[in-house]
Amino acid sequence: MNRAKKSLGQNFLIDKNILEKIVNVVDFQNKTILEVGPGTGNLTSFILNKNPRKVFVVEKDNELVSDLRNKFNDKLIIINDDVLKIDETKLFNDKVIVFGNLPYNISTEIISKWILNLKQNFWFECLILMFQKEVADRIIANLNTSSYGRLSIICNWKLNIKKLFDIKPNAFSPKPKIDSSLLFFYPKKKFVKIKDPANLQKITRVFFNQRRKMIKKPFNQLFNGNKKIIDKLNINLTMRPQNINLDTYYKLACEYEDLRS
Ligand code: SAM
Repeated sequence: MNRAKKSLGQNFLIDKNILEKIVNVVDFQNKTILEVGPGTGNLTSFILNKNPRKVFVVEKDNELVSDLRNKFNDKLIIINDDVLKIDETKLFNDKVIVFGNLPYNISTEIISKWILNLKQNFWFECLILMFQKEVADRIIANLNTSSYGRLSIICNWKLNIKKLFDIKPNAFSPKPKIDSSLLFFYPKKKFVKIKDPANLQKITRVFFNQRRKMIKKPFNQLFNGNKKIIDKLNINLTMRPQNINLDTYYKLACEYEDLRS
């Protein structure tokens, strides 16, 4: 077997009970699956055992891709590329179910890309993704907690999120130093319409630039002290960024767009 490459976040899941638990989260009948970072194909085998209609995998590591070709032959559609570079919105004919034991060094980039690039129609039905626990905790963080921040706001914009379970380091080879968590994401039917997601990124970046300080400074920087917005969104400028709820951030992004249009 090839040596695991740290630079590609290669920690392969080897615990068969956990692999089984992951594929039992959804029904595979007639479904198209996308697996991100199949690695040595451990999860891929469990996915194929469930007889989905089609399985796509995206793997960046050329050596692993050649092993996957040998191992699975024509059972997979293998995309030998960087998941951050492909355009998923153009790849599939039907909505896919996405699985991924994500490379931890780029997991937040992957999920942010997917959410921020979403077009009118979702290209996926749901996402079943593994993150390092600390990142998962930030994604599902509650208001008024120290984990609540940019990642929680961006991830919860268009998606409902549920934590499924935690996974201990000894389920992997090589063993990571940290615990992992599996999260389930599915599209929200209703969400605040922000024309350009870059504005949500900007608002959250400026507000969370100094997360312990009152929001007066970032608010004034972006909105020039606009009293109408303060009243309309019921904002108190002595609050800290972690005290402002998700909806208010989405509405602030819209107000920011209106002011600039
Ligand atoms: N799914 C396998 C498992 O659970 O055993 C492997 C998971 S491992 C944490 C992450 C996988 O993502 C590795 O196979 C790695 O080569 C691949 N990977 C890393 N960066 C990638 C990228 N930018 N695009 C696609 N795959 C990537």
